[in-house]
Amino acid sequence: MTKPLIIANWKLNMTQKQSSEFIKDFAEKVKASQNQVDIILSAPFTSLETVVKALTNNGLEKVTVASQNVSEHESGAFTGEINTEMLKEIGVQAVIVGHSERREIFNETNETIKSKSKKVLDSNLKLIFCCGESLETREKDETDKWIETQIRSAFNDLDFSKVENDQIVIAYEPIWAIGTGKTCDSIEANRVIQNIKDLIKNIFPASLANSTRVLYGGSVKPSTIEEQMAQTAIDGALVGGASLKANDFADIVNFSTKAVLNA
Ligand code: PEP
Repeated sequence: MTKPLIIANWKLNMTQKQSSEFIKDFAEKVKASQNQVDIILSAPFTSLETVVKALTNNGLEKVTVASQNVSEHESGAFTGEINTEMLKEIGVQAVIVGHSERREIFNETNETIKSKSKKVLDSNLKLIFCCGESLETREKDETDKWIETQIRSAFNDLDFSKVENDQIVIAYEPIWAIGTGKTCDSIEANRVIQNIKDLIKNIFPASLANSTRVLYGGSVKPSTIEEQMAQTAIDGALVGGASLKANDFADIVNFSTKAVLNA
């Protein structure tokens, strides 16, 4: 049985004070299930270090902290950027790359995402790689082709020799379901995720493909998680809006383990 992975993506929310308060509340509610589920909190840059420290202070050392972005560059004249060394220095262990908001609002191309993914892996950080189609692509019945292109363009010619098993996580996030309250039907999400798992078997070395967890993201809520986690291929969830309240996010974490244990 694959251990579920639940990721919070706080986006442009959560000051240091709010982050500390969240973790205090959250810790109380997930202490009992923290060995059955992997949890990642993805905070804005200014709250990352606070989150790392607050997790330790509240007995949640196993929870990983992720950045929502990173530069593909090493150092130099790139005003406003943060590199992987800076993240590692403050205890960050993972980075989200390819989120649709970065692709659409900040014009990140498949090429940029490929460079960032490589940089994250070369820096021994966990890569949380997002992919997903727009409503237009889905209505044209081009979802599978679109996702294959996104995945192949990042990974086709990557040198996997130094990539550890479980260093890559893929999140399937249909854009039309992100922040809209519309979740993708669980059976359809499961179908796409199974396709992704079949596809990476042709790209990744076998042990890496088998250890890569593929998550669903898009308006996940406490009321949807049990059904999503009961699907055969879905290994966890990437949660935006519902990760901002400690109660809701703790319910998602706790329900995810219950669903997997009952499956
Ligand atoms: C996300 O931020 O990746 C996301 C899935 O957001 P939401 O859960 O709000 O749809």
